Amino acid sequence: NEIKDESQDLEILVKILSLSKKERNSEKGSSIYHYGLMGDETGVIPFTAWNISSMVREKDIVEIKKAYSKKYNDKIRVYFDDKTEFAPKPEIDIEVKRTYTYEKIRNLGSGEKYVVMEGILHDEKEKEFISNGEKRKMYSYVIEDETGSVRLSSFGRKLPMGKGIRLEGVKVEEFNGRINASVGEKAEFHEIELKVETGNKFSYISEIKNPISGIYVVGFGISFGEKSGLIKRCKECKKKMDDERCEEHPEAKFSYDLFVYFNIDDGTGYVSVTSGFEPIKSISGIKNEELENERRPPLKKEIFERIEKSLMGKALKVEGNLSKNTMGMSLRASMISLIDDKMNKNIKNIMEAEFL
Ligand SMILES: [Zn+2]
Repeated sequence: NEIKDESQDLEILVKILSLSKKERNSEKGSSIYHYGLMGDETGVIPFTAWNISSMVREKDIVEIKKAYSKKYNDKIRVYFDDKTEFAPKPEIDIEVKRTYTYEKIRNLGSGEKYVVMEGILHDEKEKEFISNGEKRKMYSYVIEDETGSVRLSSFGRKLPMGKGIRLEGVKVEEFNGRINASVGEKAEFHEIELKVETGNKFSYISEIKNPISGIYVVGFGISFGEKSGLIKRCKECKKKMDDERCEEHPEAKFSYDLFVYFNIDDGTGYVSVTSGFEPIKSISGIKNEELENERRPPLKKEIFERIEKSLMGKALKVEGNLSKNTMGMSLRASMISLIDDKMNKNIKNIMEAEFL
């Protein structure tokens, strides 16, 4: 891990972790080069070998002289060429330590598959599962830092909640349009000094890249979805009904609910927002009784207009969780509210800087 992004005449003792061959076609014809990963007690680094000794094999310990390093795709890489010398050292053994880069929650999913994470855990849930015929436990948490939160699973091991924790080798995956982090039993962790204010974290819309949870954006409501408004749900299965009756429960009664979608723009970009009834209750002023009144059922057009009026062109704060689907990223609202004058001025300034 002492290798810098531009160095010549490197002298290193490493274990070759992987070695692959690749053919490169150019105008001058095709040539073969090798690439792979190597490491020592301090870390792992990728290499490209324009030339490599035929003695070098995977898992070998090799002393390498006259190699050089350069940045490629923002990452440091070591290169071997005609001048590079290789000396196998079968008498030595090296225990390679995998090192991971630290990522803030906001950036999870855009780079490395294994990372270092820091945050505070809460909302522990315990689940049993069977693995190789053995009963095992899985604990899941919400991990939060100053940029957002994600779900974190820990296989077979309880983790400390409510205080700063640093986890090494966290696996990051996207599942059902959401980011999931997980650690195995061998992943290292230790407690650290960390202050994180709980609650949803502010994000500019242009900063939204990965489907994380626990964020809020402020901006103006634009492009109200034309199919927003009143929907009917089957009282039996709670599913949205497209026709007059539920396909599976034609005899069942229905209840009214709301579904709303629109875009919010903060001057740095826009993102689509979806919401059910609960998050827009206070801003739209629509009450439960109105949807439940059987003598005077709610009117589709009137409800549509009231919601549209309460959101469009208004300076809003939308809190919720991001998810990714075929249409792109959307923010599932947990709360939509009007923002105060001070925040209003801030976003107006941002938008004016962008457009005027
Ligand atoms: Zn049904």
